[in-house]
Amino acid sequence: MKKHGESTEYEIYAIRYGTNTNRTRGRNFILDAQPNEILQMDFFCWFLRNGDHAIIIDTGMDAGKAARHGHTMLLDPVSTLRDFGIEPDAIETVVITHMHYDHTGHLGSFPHARFHMQAEEMAYVTGPWMGQRWFRHAYEVDEICQMVELLHQGRVDLHGRDREIADGVSVHWVGGHCAGQEIVRVRTARGWVVLASDALHYYEELERGIPFAVAFNVSDMIAAHGRIREMADSDDHVIPAHDPRVIDLYPPAGPGFEGRVHRVDLPPRLP
Ligand SMILES: [Zn+2]
Repeated sequence: MKKHGESTEYEIYAIRYGTNTNRTRGRNFILDAQPNEILQMDFFCWFLRNGDHAIIIDTGMDAGKAARHGHTMLLDPVSTLRDFGIEPDAIETVVITHMHYDHTGHLGSFPHARFHMQAEEMAYVTGPWMGQRWFRHAYEVDEICQMVELLHQGRVDLHGRDREIADGVSVHWVGGHCAGQEIVRVRTARGWVVLASDALHYYEELERGIPFAVAFNVSDMIAAHGRIREMADSDDHVIPAHDPRVIDLYPPAGPGFEGRVHRVDLPPRLP
């Protein structure tokens, strides 16, 4: 294990598994001044690596569901893990930052994993708010059922708001985008990086202090910006889940991975 002092440090790989080049600003931001302008949405999941040990953060999106929602799949996140010598069968820890369908594909590809999620998210996706179309529209009921089955197999850790997953990896409730949205704080060689997941879809939300259009609670969404900034060493240590700028800012994970897998534990590239 690579350590800094006595502390474990992780490499963070952002897998860009999908994109939507028709997405408009009006679909992304409430009352935007240029609602018809295109703002491409990319789709990321992540894995953390320290030597032979890997932790999966979100599991990407099922290809059929991507097509149905109008998104283009660029690669299969599970086979991408194998490109890095990571066998999904051997994965012991998967963190689900929230249960929207673009974060919960391929749950069955990790047969020996324990899944970690906010207890509040499970209560939300099986509770009264799902009677409202506005709140359930980004969830897929078969994936919720799959998570309930995993829970009854004793394979889900439904934790409270703050939880250490491993030395150097912790998750923290922020809510906002959905009731159980969490962020992930990771110790790297350049300091504490925060995978904001969908607490930030785009950097612009943090820069301008604006909410994303898909919201459970707008005030929690704005409050999350402060929490993210408390947890990250700087704004350059914050990684949103859907912003194409991540690809421009961070170096590819190796030859052939440009636009596909980028290293966000490394410092941003100079403009
Ligand atoms: Zn998302």
